[in-house]
Amino acid sequence: MQRFLIKDTAKHIGEKVRVCGWVNTRRAHGKILFIDLRDISGILQVVFVPSNKEAYDLAQNLRTEWVVEIVGQIVKRPENMINPKIETGQVELSVESLKILSESETLPLTIEGDGYDINEEVRMKYRYLDLRRERLKNNLIVRHKVIKFFRDFLDKEGFAEIETPMLTKSTPEGSRDFIVPSRLQPGKFYALPQSPQQYKQLLMAAGLEKYFQIARCFRDEDSRGDRQFEHTQLDLEMSFVEREDILELVERMFIKMIETLYPNKKIQEIPFPRIPYKEAMEKYNSDKPDLRKDKNDKDLLAFCWIIDFPFFEKTEDGKWTFVHNPFSAQKQEFIPDLLNKKNIEKIVANQYDIVLNGMELASGGIRSHDPKILEKVFEIMGYKKEEIWEKFGHMLTAFQFGTPPHGGIAPGIDRIVTILQNEPNIREVIAFPKTGDGRDFMMQAPSEVDKKQLKELHISIGKTKK
Ligand code: ASP
Repeated sequence: MQRFLIKDTAKHIGEKVRVCGWVNTRRAHGKILFIDLRDISGILQVVFVPSNKEAYDLAQNLRTEWVVEIVGQIVKRPENMINPKIETGQVELSVESLKILSESETLPLTIEGDGYDINEEVRMKYRYLDLRRERLKNNLIVRHKVIKFFRDFLDKEGFAEIETPMLTKSTPEGSRDFIVPSRLQPGKFYALPQSPQQYKQLLMAAGLEKYFQIARCFRDEDSRGDRQFEHTQLDLEMSFVEREDILELVERMFIKMIETLYPNKKIQEIPFPRIPYKEAMEKYNSDKPDLRKDKNDKDLLAFCWIIDFPFFEKTEDGKWTFVHNPFSAQKQEFIPDLLNKKNIEKIVANQYDIVLNGMELASGGIRSHDPKILEKVFEIMGYKKEEIWEKFGHMLTAFQFGTPPHGGIAPGIDRIVTILQNEPNIREVIAFPKTGDGRDFMMQAPSEVDKKQLKELHISIGKTKK
């Protein structure tokens, strides 16, 4: 017999159905036993009566979170028992037979309510139980819908979704790399991508023209507030475009996504205001200004673009480094200064961020596709010629074979969903997040590995401080 999802049962009054799920609650009313059965789609009231002795006796054992299969008839509830709060509130299941599929111990945490005040270590250790919570389950399903929306939107715009390698060489995004030792090439290491930046530009050199990827990026950051070592971004790149083309596409995509998936939200200003970096710093003392007119309105969305970022900034040890992305182009009027290494602090990048309610959602830029200019950028940052060629020779070479002008952006999925779901931090919209210091309490990662494994990898561990 086919399984019915709970949400569909209300349409089948008088019919016999088979449903499966978890015992959400259990209560006795005189001789009658009620359970609320929960599946992915909703809650259904189930009634056991003494006249069906076999099922009734078995049901006496049921406890919350046991997994059961029940066959019975969907009947209309008596008028005074109707519950308008749930989709199946008009009906209940009159049991014919009950099968216990799996029993459950008492849970180590409650899954009722929003769970914000439960110790986070406990929530993470038993994440698979924490995720049974309505709020978190819903966050993951909405996240899926947001990603699917972006995929479908970009597909219609002629983009191709292309995967790029996880085992690769470092791409600088201003963080430390996670490195992976190579077994077959002793003493050599891969880096996990901080972003697919170089590959997506090389796809432009390859003539793919419109690329996107729901890309996992790895950045070994010091524990800083609401960061994770890995995050997911909607990475995209296009050829033969100028800044306006990308801003227009992304703006249209966000507006449509919100109209479709969050019709109750209001976007404060369309088109999104564009604020040069300098003006943002002077006016708001921030390059992520929160422009909401009413910060208590949880349905208000204030987007803005910050444009014209400085290209270089000084590091603590007095060297020049890139502010956002070393591969970004400079605005045309600053190219002579760049080539002559003059007025470096004044050079403006063709680089943009999109900000929502005071949070940076994405960074992007038009790239430089002229090898001479790119080489000069690395030279200013203090790289020697051999070093530049060793690290980025593939990019410089690719740009010698007819690379179109191109640019892109990479909105962070975790951040977007966090804001849209009004969650206080990104861990609430990630299925299996880590703690701020990068630990996974459920899997107990990171962990030690066998001596044999280390030997194969040509690695020996020195003394570690306890
Ligand atoms: N690679 C950049 C980042 O990950 C995004 C971009 O410039 O497209 O932040």
